[in-house]
Amino acid sequence: MDRPLALVTGASRGIGAAVAGALADTHRILLGGRDSAALEALAAQLPDARPWVVDLADDAAVADAAAGIDRLDVLVHSAGVAQLADVTHSSADAWRRNYEVNVVAVAELTRLLLPALRAANGHVVVINSGQGLSVREGWGPYAASKFGARAFADVLRAEEEPNGLRVTSVYPGRTDTEMQQAVVAAEGGEYSPAKYLRPESVAGAVAAAVLASPDAHLTDITVRPRPHR
Ligand code: NAP
Repeated sequence: MDRPLALVTGASRGIGAAVAGALADTHRILLGGRDSAALEALAAQLPDARPWVVDLADDAAVADAAAGIDRLDVLVHSAGVAQLADVTHSSADAWRRNYEVNVVAVAELTRLLLPALRAANGHVVVINSGQGLSVREGWGPYAASKFGARAFADVLRAEEEPNGLRVTSVYPGRTDTEMQQAVVAAEGGEYSPAKYLRPESVAGAVAAAVLASPDAHLTDITVRPRPHR
């Protein structure tokens, strides 16, 4: 029998790539992203993975790409953007860009794949953020989008748990990825990877939820960097 199928968005790098690695021994993986060369390179390192190349901001392309998937065991939403500015300097476009990838694309891809997920009693994992639990000045559009993603996951769980789905939100703290490098640069701070989570550690939390025994539903997982290691 085929191994279960997982689609991981944002798999070209960072947390998504680590999640793909963490599930690779137990799942066939579709590696979502726009950078086909990076996805091909990762696929070559994993036992059973292939690129799923689509711009999540392109509704028509997402619909086309999702149309071929009839049965899906795991959908991990790791694709995300973070554009930081205080409210004074956040244009309508900044709010839209964060919402487009962090909320609308998550909702739309999930909607398109719901029949395939229901067919498998599947699992949806949303990589959220500490900013989806409490806000900080200067993070308005990103934090609002992550609060939106948390509400989406909670609503989806309420609606689809009776249909057999599991829905997990994972809330990582600062993690050593390209996104965090850009965030620290925008803050004018010093990049200190030793203080941050490793992407593999966040991926471990995702794997714990996905591989939990079928009677268990891990709904919300907060992962913080430990100051003393
Ligand atoms: P990252 O290294 O910047 O990677 C972002 C991923 O999202 C890339 O694979 C990128 O693909 C993909 N992506 C962005 N826009 C896309 C679009 N329009 N269509 C398709 N793919 C798109 O970020 P990360 O740190 O791994 O973040 C992953 C998730 O964790 C995000 O949801 C983020 O908000 C969350 N998070 C991160 C941190 C942190 O400190 N790093 C902390 C808390 C939460 P391309 O290669 O195509 O650009």
